Amino acid sequence: MYIPQTGLSKEEILATLRAFKSRDMDWKAGKVFCYVYNPGEDPAEVTREAYLEFLTENGLDPTVFPSMLKLETDVVRMTLNLLHGDANAVGHLTTGGTESILLAVKTARDKARAEKPHIKEPEMILPKTAHAAFHKAAHYLCVKPVVVDIDPQTFKVRAEDMEKAITGNTILLVASAPSYSQGVIDPIAEIGALAQKHNLLFHVDACVGGVHLSFMRKLGYEVPDFDFNVPGVTSISCDLHKYGYAAKGCSVIMYRSKAIRKYQIFACTDTTAYTLINPTVLSSKGGGPYAGAWALMNFLGEEGYKRIVQTVQEAAKKLMDGINAIPELRVLGQPAMCMFSFASEVINVYQLADEMAKRGWYLQGQFSTPLTPRNLHVSLNFGNAHRVDALLADLRDGVKIVKTKTPIDSDAIRAMVGAAVQSPDPEAAFGQLAVSAGLTGTDLPSEMAFINEVLDALPDALCNVFLVNYFNDLYS
Ligand SMILES: *Cc1c(COP(=O)(O)O)cnc(C)c1O
Repeated sequence: MYIPQTGLSKEEILATLRAFKSRDMDWKAGKVFCYVYNPGEDPAEVTREAYLEFLTENGLDPTVFPSMLKLETDVVRMTLNLLHGDANAVGHLTTGGTESILLAVKTARDKARAEKPHIKEPEMILPKTAHAAFHKAAHYLCVKPVVVDIDPQTFKVRAEDMEKAITGNTILLVASAPSYSQGVIDPIAEIGALAQKHNLLFHVDACVGGVHLSFMRKLGYEVPDFDFNVPGVTSISCDLHKYGYAAKGCSVIMYRSKAIRKYQIFACTDTTAYTLINPTVLSSKGGGPYAGAWALMNFLGEEGYKRIVQTVQEAAKKLMDGINAIPELRVLGQPAMCMFSFASEVINVYQLADEMAKRGWYLQGQFSTPLTPRNLHVSLNFGNAHRVDALLADLRDGVKIVKTKTPIDSDAIRAMVGAAVQSPDPEAAFGQLAVSAGLTGTDLPSEMAFINEVLDALPDALCNVFLVNYFNDLYS
């Protein structure tokens, strides 16, 4: 594509843009169970208008745009107050969970560099259920990820296993409230005690849980302590663009004190250009996500959030009970809120996901690990809470249909993958595998079961190569 010689009309452009969405999954109908968090029409409208109001302002320089400073400090303080941050606690808005986590790891690394200079090869301890963003941060920032297995019954990490992994190089402990994959909360209080005992920083990833769990607590649901109430917790990430229902591009990274947060901020004057001071990763940043979050939080108020959380929790219970009532399926662990996954000993859940996709539902496949089975993930939110009965009906049908289908021959695929791993030219062998899995070129796959089967069979390191090659081709 080239920039057109002559500009197109607004009508033509908007019609074309809308047409681009024709193959997207239908989130507006509440059929997508991840990626999108919909607070309902009125709150979404307020968010949209506020977002557009600040489309052009730039958060780069608060001296030019004091409005951006005000929006950020207000949104951060509202979130801190929800998560029991005291007057010493501070934070920043970022573009998402990934950036918040990247910054928490950078802060830990730079604090260790300053205060524990004998550590040359810093390590952070991650439960197997920690989000991949921590591995990305480790990769970007040269911090070694030390992965600790979880209890395969509860899907939670055990504090004693975390403690065993601590070495003289450890700079950071990590736990989730809750984990994305199974939606369970790690033993935050016990890990907080470890952090204090060993004089370590402790980051709680409340990217998905921060807002929702806080309002569950206010509604009287039993929620274990997971926030700054817990001694030893030194930083928390909370994505407002997930269960805070804000527009995408908005997360909060919070620290117990400025003494920790100062290692996050970057300044540079060694240039002919303007003096640069960046508290977060980005420099220029649009005001839309800030204003959108500010508007939404003020529009919903505590009452609005409570209504949403109550509705979603009731729907989540119904959905989990309904899935457990299907003999072939079972919900994994004891999810803390409205995110969970389910597995099957009888049918191939990836085939079930494809069957559901034919009916317009999107359920997210998750791979097996040595201790945990392959499963499908469901994040229920206000925008799809009303679809529980319809989803259950289609799940029951879907299971029946998958049972009549030829099962995917997992053993054959494992053998094929094994042969590729052993072959003298694994890259070429994987190229072949990619072709047979339909993962090539710039076409998007229509069925995922076979692809998921191949990916699930691949050793992690090779799977990553495979996926990188795929995306390297997909974006032409
Ligand atoms: C979504 C998520 C992240 C990453 O957040 P993004 O906003 O997608 O960058 C990190 N941790 C958990 C638990 C998450 O669910």
